[in-house]
Amino acid sequence: MSDASISHHAELNPQPGARDQRAFGVVTPDADGNIDCDVVIIGSGMGGSTFAHALRDTGLNVVVVERGDFLPREIQNWSAEAVFGQGRYRNAERWLDQSNQAFTPGVFYYVGGNTKFYGAMLPRFREADFGEIQHAEGVSPAWPITYAEMEPWYAEAEKLYRVHGQAGVDPSEPWRSGPFPHPALEHDPALVPLEQSMRRSGLKPFVMPAAVDYGEGGGCVLCSTCDGYPCLVEAKGDAEVSALRPALRNGTTHLLTRTLINQLVTSADGRTITEARGTRDGRAVTLRAKRFVLACGAVNSAALLFKSANEQHPQGLGNSSGQLGRNYMVHNSTFMLAVDPRRLNKVMFQKTLAINDWYSASANNLFPLGNVQMLGKIREPMITPMRPWLPKFASRYVTDHSVDLYLTSEDLPTQENRVTYDKARGAIKVYWQPNNLTAHKGLVRKISKVMRDAGYPIVLTERMGIATNSHQCGTAVMGKDPQSSVLDVNCKMHDLDNAWVVDSSFFPSSAAVNPALTIAANALRVAEVFKASGILTRLLQQPLAQLK
Ligand SMILES: Cc1cc2nc3c(=O)[nH]c(=O)nc-3n(C[C@H](O)[C@H](O)[C@H](O)COP(=O)(O)OP(=O)(O)OC[C@H]3O[C@@H](n4cnc5c(N)ncnc54)[C@H](O)[C@@H]3O)c2cc1C
Repeated sequence: MSDASISHHAELNPQPGARDQRAFGVVTPDADGNIDCDVVIIGSGMGGSTFAHALRDTGLNVVVVERGDFLPREIQNWSAEAVFGQGRYRNAERWLDQSNQAFTPGVFYYVGGNTKFYGAMLPRFREADFGEIQHAEGVSPAWPITYAEMEPWYAEAEKLYRVHGQAGVDPSEPWRSGPFPHPALEHDPALVPLEQSMRRSGLKPFVMPAAVDYGEGGGCVLCSTCDGYPCLVEAKGDAEVSALRPALRNGTTHLLTRTLINQLVTSADGRTITEARGTRDGRAVTLRAKRFVLACGAVNSAALLFKSANEQHPQGLGNSSGQLGRNYMVHNSTFMLAVDPRRLNKVMFQKTLAINDWYSASANNLFPLGNVQMLGKIREPMITPMRPWLPKFASRYVTDHSVDLYLTSEDLPTQENRVTYDKARGAIKVYWQPNNLTAHKGLVRKISKVMRDAGYPIVLTERMGIATNSHQCGTAVMGKDPQSSVLDVNCKMHDLDNAWVVDSSFFPSSAAVNPALTIAANALRVAEVFKASGILTRLLQQPLAQLK
């Protein structure tokens, strides 16, 4: 389909009021609410935007459909009170837990998805994470692809997201074909005594790989409002800034904002998706395309496939395996505040320091325990919504004197932990019972001792519950066997000929480090296969005379 067909149906006009750099490629549907194109990508987060970037030079007419709008750039981006106290940017609907109790999930619907708020820590999964791993409470399954197959795409993704890091310092890091594209950040001086104390305890603390535009000519000022906040100066390597925006400048990639896709319609034989139907500002919208790529996030992609159940796919689109929505993982995670009431923590950019000494089983820990990294600086407005009974001055005193850590351990995929769509209530439903907690509790114990030894007599911990699902994954796992997986090894749906899923749904296991780089690397890997098959399709469709 040519570019003419998209301009026939859609106006290539900037949204009124859009900032210049955000105006490129923004489309609106025609008067009947239709858009025709080659490829529809649903969701503009890490998976969707990275995939769009990979297609930018193919000549294919691509429309990225995003339910949210552009995140406003305003001074409140950097206000803890606005972002956390008032929840200024929270825009997710409520979901249900297994007892039908409503909760507000920790997801954000904007152009760029959750990466607009992410902490921009972009480690690779470890080589062992791609194999089977024995954990304290079960087995983490092997992936159908190896680390060696992912490595070139990790390297590409690190370039795209401008990852700053240093090889050879993380004791669990996988091999790499080249250095990091940018030098590692340095620890804020306030973190150095802690780092030294950790070394004295025999640990090997290191600097986390970070996707920030820091250094000569870069806009990053290493502020204290990165993790959990939007970046006012757009120096965080989020999916909008790093991947989508450059893709939108090429003229064949387009963005449709404020459009919630509710249904995918299939052909009569059920083998291909023909239309994506949704609503935009209360009006019906229909997108017709040859190929459809889902990137709504693990929970929303599964929900959309369930909502699209039809005669040919009665259990949900692409769910002949019965595995759709299952194997929902989210990490076991704990926030830790280590407090020395005598010492003010003057840190700005706190998130650099990390420990992976207990990531794999060793003589010190029989089973893998997980990763320890810093949180962005915790402030009083983050505590008050969780502890409304605590006077603000007390929270302020604690957070002014705390060093803040984030502990993550692998949770294991199970049939019971799953996402469904409750049609009667019109809501997403999440069944979640944390597992592999033995490992997580072991990690909490070990790091609590390290922090006490470092001179923090008070260690406060809070394990995150069902609403903290920023590391959600699983729900449409990839695999070789169509009876036990939803996607094939290239993330095409087994049951459909023209549908792919490139968000974190494909993860067969969750590993214990941050997921976003793996989502991006996988999107690049899948796009390569997708492009090759596109060329094949075009060649096959051309009359023989044109092939000479
Ligand atoms: C506060 C916070 C901190 C984090 N820190 C880190 C970190 O430091 N490192 C890291 O690796 N990860 C981090 N993460 C997690 C990371 O952001 C996610 O893993 C990643 O963004 C997931 O990518 P995705 O493509 O699967 O989904 P998302 O990025 O969530 O994108 C999904 C997109 O789809 C859109 N959408 C959903 N449903 C529909 C629909 N029906 N129609 C149209 N559009 C739809 C959504 O609005 C969204 O834009 C953090 C997350 C949060 C919230």
